[in-house]
Amino acid sequence: MSGFLEVGTNGNGKVVVNHPDLHPDENGVGHIVFSVTEAQNLASLLQRKAIEAHDEMEERKRSEAATIPVDRSCQVLASGDKVPEDRSHTELKPNGQQQDYVVLCDKERAKGFVRPYRDAYRHLKCGNITTMSRPIAETYARDPYFYSGTFCTTCASHFPAGEDGQFVWYERDGSTGPKVGT
Ligand SMILES: [Zn+2]
Repeated sequence: MSGFLEVGTNGNGKVVVNHPDLHPDENGVGHIVFSVTEAQNLASLLQRKAIEAHDEMEERKRSEAATIPVDRSCQVLASGDKVPEDRSHTELKPNGQQQDYVVLCDKERAKGFVRPYRDAYRHLKCGNITTMSRPIAETYARDPYFYSGTFCTTCASHFPAGEDGQFVWYERDGSTGPKVGT
């Protein structure tokens, strides 16, 4: 596309789009004229198509990431510390959470996500939402089957994830996503 797209109004209830690629008029300017309703419809259509194009691109990136096998041996703790040999990070705190959680290392997470990035889920038993830290959310996005269970802050305990698990993703628009760990 060469030249500039210009959007304006004509002072007479119309929206005018100019672009050199459009068939030029007697002044050498190509334009399309929209009524107010047409302009509003076009705007919402463009908005929808932009989201669609973005989603298609993200889906393609996820398919590409899925061709790179996950190296589960590259692990650290969510805090960034080394995974202790005595597994002391699995000791529970008074609130029911582990001292720390194992995640895939930065290098492994950077290879690409096979699921959309999601950092909140709903526990189906109590209906409440728990959010998680970025390293854990990215580990889920890179390797959806990495964890067999996950934590509910309301119930203060861990429960199974996966197809038969007790959690569904809470999407950013507030809708319900697929099961956590699938
Ligand atoms: Zn719960």
